[in-house]
Amino acid sequence: MNVAGQLYRLQQLDLELERKQQELNEVENQLSDNKALVPAESEMVSQKGQLEEARKRQESSEWELEDLQEKVRQIDSKLYSGKTKDSKELVNLEREGKALRSRIGTKEDALLGLMSQVEEIEAKVRTTGEGIERLKRECEQRQETFRPRKSEIETLLAKLRADRDGLVQQIDLEALSIYERIRLTRAQAVVKVERGRCLGCHITVSTSQWQKARAGDLIQCNNCGRILYLD
Ligand SMILES: [Zn+2]
Repeated sequence: MNVAGQLYRLQQLDLELERKQQELNEVENQLSDNKALVPAESEMVSQKGQLEEARKRQESSEWELEDLQEKVRQIDSKLYSGKTKDSKELVNLEREGKALRSRIGTKEDALLGLMSQVEEIEAKVRTTGEGIERLKRECEQRQETFRPRKSEIETLLAKLRADRDGLVQQIDLEALSIYERIRLTRAQAVVKVERGRCLGCHITVSTSQWQKARAGDLIQCNNCGRILYLD
């Protein structure tokens, strides 16, 4: 194999290495992807906080209601025990009892509202929790799919690198540095010549260049500077 042939082979390895490295990056992105899980978990924290608050409000409303009911019981027992004889006091007690019952009615309505708020938030927490479980399952499935693919690609990359190292040992250093320099700016540093044209820029290669390349010299296209390869 002449030097252009070696460089062409080297380029094939380099392009394949790039493709596989790119593929590995994509697989690793898939493996570490928990973009959807993070906001769901923070939503869960916030909903649990809301639930705790709502439950506290419900509890304190229940205590207030119990207090009022206890007061009404005390008034009723005074009213109906027969111990209170003073009619003015009895009227006052009745008025107080009526006011308390009206407050109890309002409190009960408010309590019902609070209870339904708690139920609503509980339902949200359940939905968010189910969403998190689903995302975790999807994440596990991704791991199962992509982990074997990852190790496959890593094995392939190691083999490609070893092949490359072996090939580089055989290539003339000056030719190698020309190749590396062109590769800095062009994906393809070595191109085939077909029907007399450079496949990099599609300009016709001069006969003398063609002959030198055919003879195995390292020839760069006059137009685009790529290394010409005749197989
Ligand atoms: Zn060219």
